[in-house]
Amino acid sequence: MNNIERLLDREFSRNDIVRLLSLTESEDVEKLRKKAFDLTTELLGSNVYFRGLIEFSNICNLNCYYCGIRKDNDNVERYMLSKKEIVDCAVWAAKVGYGSCVLQSGERRDGQFVSFVEACVREIKEKTRSDSMPDGLGITLSVGEQSSDVYKRFFEAGAHRYLLRIETSNQKLFSKLHPAGQDYGERKEAIKNLKKIGYQVGTGVMIGTPGQTIEDLADDILFFKENDIDMIGMGPYIVHPDSPMKEQGMKERRSLLQLSLNMIAVVRLFLKDVNIAATTALQALAPDGREQGILYGANIVMPNMTPKDARKNYQLYDGKPCINETKDECRGCLQKRIESTGRKVGYNLWGDSKHFKFN
Ligand code: SAH
Repeated sequence: MNNIERLLDREFSRNDIVRLLSLTESEDVEKLRKKAFDLTTELLGSNVYFRGLIEFSNICNLNCYYCGIRKDNDNVERYMLSKKEIVDCAVWAAKVGYGSCVLQSGERRDGQFVSFVEACVREIKEKTRSDSMPDGLGITLSVGEQSSDVYKRFFEAGAHRYLLRIETSNQKLFSKLHPAGQDYGERKEAIKNLKKIGYQVGTGVMIGTPGQTIEDLADDILFFKENDIDMIGMGPYIVHPDSPMKEQGMKERRSLLQLSLNMIAVVRLFLKDVNIAATTALQALAPDGREQGILYGANIVMPNMTPKDARKNYQLYDGKPCINETKDECRGCLQKRIESTGRKVGYNLWGDSKHFKFN
């Protein structure tokens, strides 16, 4: 057994995590990848689950320095889909067997927005119950930080998963990525509130932001464990030309892709039974980025269902793929991509996180 094999066979220390994340030699990386892929198969089987993504609005009141739809970016045309458009997308997802949808948007906390999201969730539930899915479509929300009461309302309406990335668990780095007023402690509190209410909670980080170290990423993984996270969505940081972070540039694409894949594999090996998404941002770095994510231990893919006209205005980062495709095109394309990895699509299933336990 060589060093890497020995390392892969033991409980990881923080130092071990740092070493594994830093691997670049193809032989070593392949050992890491295979171990993570095999553990995924052993614990979760060979299904990959779809979460049809509806980016229903790019209207945002926040000014995250990295994000293309931040409030102060005047170059984006703002939109908000109607309830009918959103529900129609979800009904389509249920019809083609996606099993779950994700409603994502920029961040708003006003009463009108909250009631709108709540009404959408209720109507999606009502309209997607069928013989093949008696509980209707699984619904994940990703509409940012809200009060605990609002999270409860969404939960009672029928959403059962929530995505809220911590972005980085390094408080200092967090404050470099966000303007004053966006507080690390509050975000962490929101994640805790979501867990208390009974959501399956997803979080994650951007990989490769300026100033971030490998040790920071190792701490992010420890953060996921400490906070008993059920689902992980991480992606490479990709610079947006209209953002204030433009000048700071980004990491070189090949090494950024490898680092992102190593993160997926190490998270799989360390957290074991969580759901991990092969995020769209991986595909912005390589045409087969998402398939590679699956080969490194991811088991979730989020096909984009946002209507074509809206897509071009939901560019969080530069070079976001699939902006000229329709939801039908995304569907066929992704199934082929998933099957190319030896996995299959778990149609008509929620594919909940095995890690989740309601207490
Ligand atoms: N407003 C919601 C959801 C939209 S943003 C929220 O904040 O939760 C969704 C995710 O996109 C963010 O959490 C962030 O991690 C990612 N993102 C934003 N800008 C990015 C960039 N330039 N590169 C990579 N990921 C980015």
